[in-house]
Amino acid sequence: MSRAVIAGGSVAGLACALILAAHGHEVHIAERDLPDTDRRRSVPHWQHPHLFREQTHRVLERFAPDVLAEVRAAGGEERVVQGHRAAEDDGRRRSTVLLVRRAVLEAALRRAVTRRSSITYAAGTEVSGLCFANAVAPRRVIGVRTTRGPLLADLVVSAGGRRDRTSEWLLGDGAPAPWLLETSTHLTMYSRFYRLRQDAAPGPLDSPVSAGGVYDGFAGKLLLADNNLFSVSFGVLPDDPELKLLREPAFFAAAAAQLPAIAAWVDPNRSRPVTDRPLAIGALRNRLRRLVSHDGRPVVHGLHLVGDSLCMTNQVFALGVSLALEQAVIISEALRKYPTDLAAQTLEVDKEVVGRIAPHFEDVVAQDRARTEMWRAAYASSGREPDLSGIHAATVSDLDRRLTRQQLLRELRRAG
Ligand SMILES: Cc1cc2nc3c(=O)[nH]c(=O)nc-3n(C[C@H](O)[C@H](O)[C@H](O)COP(=O)(O)OP(=O)(O)OC[C@H]3O[C@@H](n4cnc5c(N)ncnc54)[C@H](O)[C@@H]3O)c2cc1C
Repeated sequence: MSRAVIAGGSVAGLACALILAAHGHEVHIAERDLPDTDRRRSVPHWQHPHLFREQTHRVLERFAPDVLAEVRAAGGEERVVQGHRAAEDDGRRRSTVLLVRRAVLEAALRRAVTRRSSITYAAGTEVSGLCFANAVAPRRVIGVRTTRGPLLADLVVSAGGRRDRTSEWLLGDGAPAPWLLETSTHLTMYSRFYRLRQDAAPGPLDSPVSAGGVYDGFAGKLLLADNNLFSVSFGVLPDDPELKLLREPAFFAAAAAQLPAIAAWVDPNRSRPVTDRPLAIGALRNRLRRLVSHDGRPVVHGLHLVGDSLCMTNQVFALGVSLALEQAVIISEALRKYPTDLAAQTLEVDKEVVGRIAPHFEDVVAQDRARTEMWRAAYASSGREPDLSGIHAATVSDLDRRLTRQQLLRELRRAG
């Protein structure tokens, strides 16, 4: 058994704590934000639509079934889907996804953490750097510096999300920076939650949990959530000035009513918006960091990354939380295999990240590139036929493909 400090207490940090505790480790979480506030200062995507894929369900069922019980009690749903995406169900062609808002899942994880006597959760505690045992490379991390003083540990897990500062801390203390791959998603998202009216039947879906997909010049998707809630989201190129109109409630409503797959859901007789205005989020990136140098040696000992700190992927693919839980399992397996050999732990984690996480990252980057090229072409020339050859075949029906950015814009202008 070792003592671990986790820097960041959101979904990845909380889930990692539960998994490490299930393996007999003592865990201390340092979280900058205060809990149970209506707004998460550090997590801008907190209120955005989320779908939790098979890995999330599988890992929680194994290591923290009480979290699933809480999600169910809060109105969340476990839905068994078939052939949803072969790559994510490990070839079994059946998987269970979680239909629940991210804030509800995070609250359930936080409550589960407080039920474990081997985990402590310090809210309002900001980590400001790492503590090292030695000055020569590879340096050994033995804890973190925080606004409430140092926290020493056998192991530090950095779970600070997409603005995680681990690389900065390492460089600032003279250690090499992690190996980094980073690309832009070229995507800005606008989303809004709706609730079905009492006794209103749900609209049609074209996948077990969603409707819509990638169109010629934009994406528009409906996603089911808990308690008769569903979300509608649009994804557009960040440099598409005209589609920025989607920030405005009236234009958002007009656009949603234009999508054949979504129109029936947002009919005012069937549902009403519950988010005041569409939520916007941009500057989203794909990023993969590995704690090894280019010649494959650990850049530091006693430190691991989890969640967006390790791997961020375009949110449209709904992989972030599932990959985070998978990474937490990878870390716990490496600790079990090499309880005292810190270099072997890092190399084992890196081997599994390359084998189990990086392929998802590479797939998302390739699909983003294809989609961005297609959208840029749609933006440049309006009249041509859409080419969706690089896009996952299951994301859009043949009928929907014919809806172009130009048609959507015409409707938005009419709404104005
Ligand atoms: C719009 C959008 C939609 C998404 N949709 C999906 C989806 O459908 N399905 C899915 O699986 N994923 C989705 N994702 C991705 C998913 O939200 C992330 O992968 C996930 O939130 C990552 O969790 P995390 O704990 O790593 O980081 P975060 O949730 O960002 O949390 C980081 C935590 O670290 C804390 N922290 C940061 N720095 C410090 C510090 N110095 N000291 C102490 N605490 C610190 C922060 O306060 C915060 O609590 C989406 C992302 C976006 C942006």
